[in-house]
Amino acid sequence: MAAVTEEAILSALGTIRDGERGDVVALGMISGLVVKDGHVAFSIEVDPRRGAALEPLRRAAEKAVEALPGVLSVTAVLTAHRAAAAPAPVPPAGARPAGPAGGRGPVPGVRAIVAVASGKGGVGKSTVAVNLAMGLAANGLSVGILDADIYGPSMPRMTGISGRPTSRDGRILEPMTNFGVKVMSMGFMVAEDTPMIWRGPMVMSALQQMLRDVSWGPLDILVVDMPPGTGDAQLTMAQQVPLSGAVIVSTPQDIALLDARKGLNMFRKVDVPVLGIVENMSYFCCPNCGHRAEIFGHGGARREAERLGTEFLAEIPLDIAIRETSDGGHPIVVAEPDGPHAKVFRALAARVWQKVSGEDARRAPPRIVVR
Ligand code: ADP
Repeated sequence: MAAVTEEAILSALGTIRDGERGDVVALGMISGLVVKDGHVAFSIEVDPRRGAALEPLRRAAEKAVEALPGVLSVTAVLTAHRAAAAPAPVPPAGARPAGPAGGRGPVPGVRAIVAVASGKGGVGKSTVAVNLAMGLAANGLSVGILDADIYGPSMPRMTGISGRPTSRDGRILEPMTNFGVKVMSMGFMVAEDTPMIWRGPMVMSALQQMLRDVSWGPLDILVVDMPPGTGDAQLTMAQQVPLSGAVIVSTPQDIALLDARKGLNMFRKVDVPVLGIVENMSYFCCPNCGHRAEIFGHGGARREAERLGTEFLAEIPLDIAIRETSDGGHPIVVAEPDGPHAKVFRALAARVWQKVSGEDARRAPPRIVVR
């Protein structure tokens, strides 16, 4: 019989709900999962005050995993949640609990949260995310960037920020700032060359912490750089972050477009509105003669967006200046604010803001109409 995989176990555990709060995987309650020759063990992290009441949940979790083919035995233990070691302040009546239990509730002080996603890596998702954020800021909005690409965080490099975030009260982190934009990334917490192995639940609790235990507010908009791909981790993230919408980044190659379609479907599955598709590396502008070369067959994303019933938001050329600036910590929108690329990103930013807020990003003064 085929060996049981961690993925299968987590997906079985994903059916176990802790009451109204959500499922135990998404809530980040599962830890220490070990699988050996068909024997499975894991712990369920709970608030110690709820320990006894959660015995039925523990048994249900064991049963769900026992039912999987290839499983010989299951041991689930309830362990005290790490965060419970420090007494949590009692929230006022009706308040949403902080931390991983926060689920999809709104983030206080943040008006809109927009995900930038791609079906696969290397299409320029982070480059678009950082320049979209800078474009939103250039349009007069207060902006944050949450680097949720915890497997390969690139925001420290792309925003030119190094160092560690500080905390005033030992619990809530202050975001880092550059170019007037607030930034939080796992890259600030661990050395860039430290390989990280993240289990699904750890991913979720890291993300929830970066979302909820950071003093983001007041912000008009938080741009979330999602991890590339459309697997379970991405789906859970899309589900757990209270997103106002998602922007899908794609290159013109057909194969990437197939991936883009998966991204689109993923957000639709969790009822997050897809704001549209950005075609990156859309065409190549020769820096010497200005000739426009459509290396990858330009226009595919526009057609695909039409076919999929979503908006074609922008086309970004392949330009060495875009690479050099974002990889050098000075995204093109701030490096060349009057250049053609900044214009494209600001227009993209204006459209995104218009779609999520219903208002014009350039904050035009209200027109006085005399009747
Ligand atoms: P992803 O987040 O999709 O993995 P990145 O944003 O990290 O991709 O981009 C991958 C590489 O491609 C980076 O070195 C980036 O600077 C470069 N790049 C992205 N978009 C462009 C572009 N339009 N023109 C030139 N280089 C680009």
